[in-house]
Amino acid sequence: MHMISVFKALQIVELAELKPKTQKLELSDSFNKILAQDITSPINMPPFRQSAMDGYAFKLSDSKSYKLVAESKAGDNNKIRLKAGQAARIFTGALVPDEADTVVIQEHVNRSNNTIIINKLPKRTANVRPIGEQVQKGEIVLKKGQQLNAAAIGFLAGIGIPEVLVHKTPRVAIIVTGNELQQAGKDLEAGKIYESNSIMLSSALKTTGITNILTLRTKDTFDATKSVISEALENSDVVLVSGGISVGDYDFVQEALKDNGVNELFYKVNQKPGKPLWFGRKNDQFVFGLPGNPASALSCFYIYVTPLLNKMNGAKDIHLKRIKAKSLTDYKNTTGKTLFLKGMLNENMVEILYGQQSSMLHSFAKSNVLVRIPNEMELLNKNDDVECISLNI
Ligand code: AMP
Ligand code: MG
Repeated sequence: MHMISVFKALQIVELAELKPKTQKLELSDSFNKILAQDITSPINMPPFRQSAMDGYAFKLSDSKSYKLVAESKAGDNNKIRLKAGQAARIFTGALVPDEADTVVIQEHVNRSNNTIIINKLPKRTANVRPIGEQVQKGEIVLKKGQQLNAAAIGFLAGIGIPEVLVHKTPRVAIIVTGNELQQAGKDLEAGKIYESNSIMLSSALKTTGITNILTLRTKDTFDATKSVISEALENSDVVLVSGGISVGDYDFVQEALKDNGVNELFYKVNQKPGKPLWFGRKNDQFVFGLPGNPASALSCFYIYVTPLLNKMNGAKDIHLKRIKAKSLTDYKNTTGKTLFLKGMLNENMVEILYGQQSSMLHSFAKSNVLVRIPNEMELLNKNDDVECISLNI
């Protein structure tokens, strides 16, 4: 059976053509989303001449003595007029009276009753934030493609923007196949195992900002598999099928996908774990057939599903971060396949963990990277450089 390289498989995912979908969201729902519009500031920021400190506002002159005639605290709008030789008590964030050009901090002032003596004259305009110092009305302040981190959301709220146009986060359906699977909560029946892929994949999905997740389950029959795939396609943009993608007598996923009009883009990748990975599309919808073995399913998720979802989310850097490190472990690769090994990276040294089989999650649970061993590398020696794929998303 034809198998494609990891490079080629990744390229197919990276180059998959997408119709960008956008949506208007309230700012409070837009954390980590990616802007699909440039943002123009509707106001000057600050909107008025604002004091940066607690102190006294006055018009700077050679004199060190001023008469206190008014007070301006944050939020006040009392039109204070200052004549020569007069000052106003002022607090951080408050409107600076028009005639004042400088704020002296209170630590540099001696006050007795309504007179202040300035010990240390500041420079003109000190501690006065000019109108539009941060951004000006009409200026483009954030560009399309910017991810909305907490600071960006705070900034947009600060200029009075209530909603934003962002890339639409895809809806994802997870389909779990397998007669042997049992839900946690009661003792295992003979021959059964607890089902773990759905909760694992939905947790992993959260790292890509996806919260709209539908989980469906099916027994291993062709009809049930076909109908659950059809239901998933009706309700999602991306479908992740777990298991049933191999060539056993009870693996119906491939055929059922094709019967649902999903076209294969690749099947089988020269890698371990995750050889029987399947990827296809139906119009604007994408489907991954992930191997059922838990470690394979999760590896394939991080390496192939994550970049597709990031791309659909509008991101430019779609892959997990790659880090170069020195191996603490010798490793033989007799498979001719690209290996993705569970590893623990510490500083710039990486240990390849014990327990690399596709069925094993205990080593994955403790790992913070996947170490990529290229298919042509037969022997990794201690201290050799390796590429690590960071799982600290
Ligand atoms: P499959 O890809 O369907 O041949 O499954 C490969 C292996 O993964 C089998 O040992 C299955 O029992 C196991 N497996 C499949 N699906 C799950 C799941 N959802 N949770 C845990 N193990 C699974
Ligand atoms: Mg199965």
